[in-house]
Amino acid sequence: MLQQSRSPCPPEVQSAAGRADVCQVADVRPGYFAAPAPTALMPGAISPGPVTNVRLRLVLVLLAALVSVVVTTTLLAQRARDAGALALRAVDQPAPAAAGWGPTYLDARGRPARWDPCLPIAYVVQSGWIPDAGRRDLAEALRRISVASGLSFVDEGDTDEMPSRTRAPYQPARYGQRWAPLLIGWVPPATTDVGIGGGVQGVSLSFAVPGAAGPSLVSGQVALDAGNRLAAGFGPGTTDGEVLLHELAHAVGLGHVLDPTQVMYPQTTSSESEFGAGDRAGLAALGAPAGCHPAPSPRA
Ligand SMILES: [Zn+2]
Repeated sequence: MLQQSRSPCPPEVQSAAGRADVCQVADVRPGYFAAPAPTALMPGAISPGPVTNVRLRLVLVLLAALVSVVVTTTLLAQRARDAGALALRAVDQPAPAAAGWGPTYLDARGRPARWDPCLPIAYVVQSGWIPDAGRRDLAEALRRISVASGLSFVDEGDTDEMPSRTRAPYQPARYGQRWAPLLIGWVPPATTDVGIGGGVQGVSLSFAVPGAAGPSLVSGQVALDAGNRLAAGFGPGTTDGEVLLHELAHAVGLGHVLDPTQVMYPQTTSSESEFGAGDRAGLAALGAPAGCHPAPSPRA
């Protein structure tokens, strides 16, 4: 049995964001970012941008029972104050099956947000609660994304930073004068406000900025629930590997699609732990085949 998500916008995310329409295409009120405001060092004055959330429900068929695992994706973008024509729109509805895949963000010209495939995507790992096979599964998930997209990743080691809805995309004191690296980690629900736990197995937050050549993904977070351990690997059933594939694909720009053969389907069966044709097409469209895509600097 496949079920529809009850809502594309988890209530806990709405309340945390302090507004009921956080899933709509709307600017987030100033102060959403609790970390030091980056405006002084950013080109122009940056204001927090559209936010959306998409809940994924994974349905695992197990001994004739259905066990659902919900993976929520929280997407975060910002726009330049004077770049209204390039304002980003978070895509909060799954793409139709015929499309094969959908993006997480589009700008006013319909261009999807994507990373620069000509530079490696730096990531750090919050390893305090990492499962025994966590590093292996993470490496394999990143490898699969690299194969499909041409994007590359560079491991910058472990961090004590915790995932947070208010994580700043620019943290010069911690990471230097650049966008903060992608933060990946398994953490107990009580240690973070990103919304994992209670059936939400993973959360992905991505940060995008507008640009003349289209929007750029520049930072993000992938948090997995360390309090509800899944099977390791990418085999049948709901596994850490499957959740990693889904959340990391969000982090590199893929949204949901209403095709049950794809990892990015909002509800998948236990047999789906590999990217499907639509997933691969989307990863290619957002990756190296689309050419270099230099991102705006966080500095003026
Ligand atoms: Zn999702």
